[in-house]
Amino acid sequence: MTSDRFVLVGGTIHDPTHGRDGTVGDLWVDAGRIVAAPADGARWRRIDAAGLVVMPGGVDLHSHVAGPKVAAGRRIAPAPAHGPAAVPTIHATGALYAALGYTTVFDAAIATGAAALAHRELAEMPVLDRGIYLLAADDTAVLTAVERDDAAATERLLREAIATGGGWGVKVANPGGPVFWKHGRRGDHHDLDTTLPGSTLSPRRLLERLARAVQTIGLPHPLHVHTANLGLPGNWRTLLETMRTLDGLPAHLAHVQFHSYSGGDLDEGSFGSAVAALVEWFDTHPGITLDVGQVLFGATVAMTGDSAAAEHLAHATGMPWMSHDQHLSGGCGVLPIRYKETSLVHAWQWAIGLEWFLTVRDPWRLALSTDHPNGASFTAYPLLMRLLGDAAFRREALGRIHPRVRSRSALAGIDREYSLQELCIVTRAAPARIAGLPHKGHLGVGADADITLYRPQADLEAMFAMPAKVFKAGRLVAEDGHLRDPTPGAALVAG
Ligand SMILES: [Zn+2]
Repeated sequence: MTSDRFVLVGGTIHDPTHGRDGTVGDLWVDAGRIVAAPADGARWRRIDAAGLVVMPGGVDLHSHVAGPKVAAGRRIAPAPAHGPAAVPTIHATGALYAALGYTTVFDAAIATGAAALAHRELAEMPVLDRGIYLLAADDTAVLTAVERDDAAATERLLREAIATGGGWGVKVANPGGPVFWKHGRRGDHHDLDTTLPGSTLSPRRLLERLARAVQTIGLPHPLHVHTANLGLPGNWRTLLETMRTLDGLPAHLAHVQFHSYSGGDLDEGSFGSAVAALVEWFDTHPGITLDVGQVLFGATVAMTGDSAAAEHLAHATGMPWMSHDQHLSGGCGVLPIRYKETSLVHAWQWAIGLEWFLTVRDPWRLALSTDHPNGASFTAYPLLMRLLGDAAFRREALGRIHPRVRSRSALAGIDREYSLQELCIVTRAAPARIAGLPHKGHLGVGADADITLYRPQADLEAMFAMPAKVFKAGRLVAEDGHLRDPTPGAALVAG
């Protein structure tokens, strides 16, 4: 087919994997892949990219877009005053992601019993390739195998869950927490060593054995960890202990912003940031990667496999909430939330996420996320990219938040600005590498022709909000904010 052969001519290419940092060049595309310059190139269709910034398609490695808890989120979300819904339909989700230049997304928390349903829903999503992480550690059989220290049985059960559920990875949400929850106890344990009700298994041992099993069975993405005590004051110690427990093993820490709080309670005095101590450890232990789970101000919906955290939040905010499980396995809590600049806790959450982004030394170990829709909608990614890349804009925003946070957060003293190359790393190259996608996140020969073309602008939010053109597997799928081709992408399934 000659019709899907083309060359993007003269674009300003950002491809961090191959050390191209704004170099002008051409990209040749054939049959959905990037290819070397052909001998008969003069006959290929030419698309002018002169003056445009060229990046690989965006990769979101931690989002919530399908399955029963997202459906619950759509029901409970208040109608938006303007703009897209906090929890869009599956069709709008694909269209909105594609219009932002994203071409791959992972749903980070699907109960094994809901996997088939999630796949059916995701098959309707326009454009993006998609994968799911399974909450396989919520299954009683897996917990029993780990308690018996039966590594072979643990590996077999995880392999079976991935095969029958069509999973890409294994996620653990609040290790052991669902067992505490089902026994009528809060799912939090300030240390990782409180054994599960009726069991000799501790959350620490569960984390370590799961990470080892995922490594042994050779999944493309390491164990995806939402650790205990999400959202609670003083929980930074739990995150530090989690990192220590996983030291030497490959593991990915999800939405660390929600796990980086100092203090003993939510009162005005003690709540705050413990990012400095956590980053110091993270920077010197290279096996672990993370995504941030940035909070941005406005209305959204919280949804988590950690029912205890949702219950806690519902009590703290007075909002109605929903809780449900999947055949008594898994579980999730869902409630609306509005993050306010004037709230001490919300202002700290906003600052803490940015502190993570701006103080971690190596952007290759970090993926941009809002834990959509928990911290904010993915549609706010362009705003987040401007906050990272524009220090003056960030200072203005800092000037509007709760005064105690303004004066105490390290942010006031941070001048770092992400370059376009670094923004490309945290939205494409790093998440693709962390997720285990060798054909994505870069523009080398053999890569999927998932390509986004932006008009350079001083206002990074405006620039990243509306790419000029988005290609998915070599097809033009979006242009100036309009969906051009809704064809669904492929399911990413391990093995
Ligand atoms: Zn999440």
